[in-house]
Amino acid sequence: MIVSQTVSELGASATLQMSKKAKALEAQGHKIFDFSVGEPDLSPPQVLFDGVMEAIKEKQHLYTPVSGTLAIKKSILHYTQHHQNLSGWDVPQVCVSTGAKQVIYNALMASLEPGDEVIIPSPYWVSYPAIVKLSGARWVPVSCNEHNGFKLTPEALQAAITPNTKWLVLNSPNNPTGTVYDTDTLYRLAEVLKKFPKIFILSDDIYEALCYTHRPCPHILHVCPELQSRVLVVNGISKSLAATGWRLGWGIAPQSLLEGIEKIQSHSTSGPCCLVQHAVAQTLNTPQLEAYILENHGIFTSRRHCLVKALQRLPGMDTLVTPMGAFYVFASCRGILHHPTIRALGWRTDRELADGLLTHAHVCSVPGSEFGQEGYLRFSYAVPPKLIEEGVERLIHFLTTPS
Ligand code: PLP
Repeated sequence: MIVSQTVSELGASATLQMSKKAKALEAQGHKIFDFSVGEPDLSPPQVLFDGVMEAIKEKQHLYTPVSGTLAIKKSILHYTQHHQNLSGWDVPQVCVSTGAKQVIYNALMASLEPGDEVIIPSPYWVSYPAIVKLSGARWVPVSCNEHNGFKLTPEALQAAITPNTKWLVLNSPNNPTGTVYDTDTLYRLAEVLKKFPKIFILSDDIYEALCYTHRPCPHILHVCPELQSRVLVVNGISKSLAATGWRLGWGIAPQSLLEGIEKIQSHSTSGPCCLVQHAVAQTLNTPQLEAYILENHGIFTSRRHCLVKALQRLPGMDTLVTPMGAFYVFASCRGILHHPTIRALGWRTDRELADGLLTHAHVCSVPGSEFGQEGYLRFSYAVPPKLIEEGVERLIHFLTTPS
């Protein structure tokens, strides 16, 4: 067999399977209400397009330094200071990659060895465990309770730490729950981490610009700057600039880790496209960026309200935690699974429910099991408000109309 044992054992993404099925139904002529999407449907700022056009006019075409151009690294540090209120790094501590995903991949590959452990609060973004598995290390899920807003508690963190723990992954705002860690929780987590000086913290800030409660989004380095020598800050333009396809993300890290990240990148992609780097360097510096981010805030805040309100009307819907960031609602579906219509159909799990709702009601969501938490459905509100209203109406109709 050509594919390695490790790769064979990686699960196929249920999100992609759902999306494939949705596309197939669409091709048959059905209207699909697709809430599975993880990318904003908004337009990126014009300055991003202008920047790439300028780079083309200048006929930029060569390899850039592996970790990115000087201009983009300076812009990233500027952005991080002005939009995240984080500073204290120099240009050599920044690496630009083809998306935040590649930064995470590079960092974990550069640092993990068999026997090492990575603590991943659950529910989690699906690629964290997959990348840890690829590295040969062990991932340690720590279940986070809905009643605690899906936040990792200091007690649970402390209990999960072993002499082999190398990383803790923190993702706020969170995919799939939309949870934003408050400063008090971050402070208490930092107090635990201070006792274990060998543990690094992967702070995945990819949704940081989409935090609806605070600006800037609370960060572990705001409450405990002394952790800076072991924090990897991950960010990018996929969500904040609605530019998923441009494939640009960055990591800011202590020098030794950064050098490892750069080494992996030099032997894999050699870094992101020079044209995109030019455009992003200009965009991150532009004074209009804050206005763009705030406009998107407004749009997503009203969609969030619309989706939460609509979902609350679903028969059997349990109390919903209103998400404070990103563009997802992680809704318990246990009550829906007990609804007479669903019981009659024999759907017993969130996977069966999500699959059935797609096939029969043409509403596409992602089962919580995909993110390590059974009994939930994730709905994205990175979709137009009309689709939100019609899609949820379709679900209500499906549940309340005898077949
Ligand atoms: N981190 C989280 C939590 C995500 O949800 C995603 C994308 O969905 C990424 C990282 C990857 O972002 P990028 O498109 O920059 O690779």
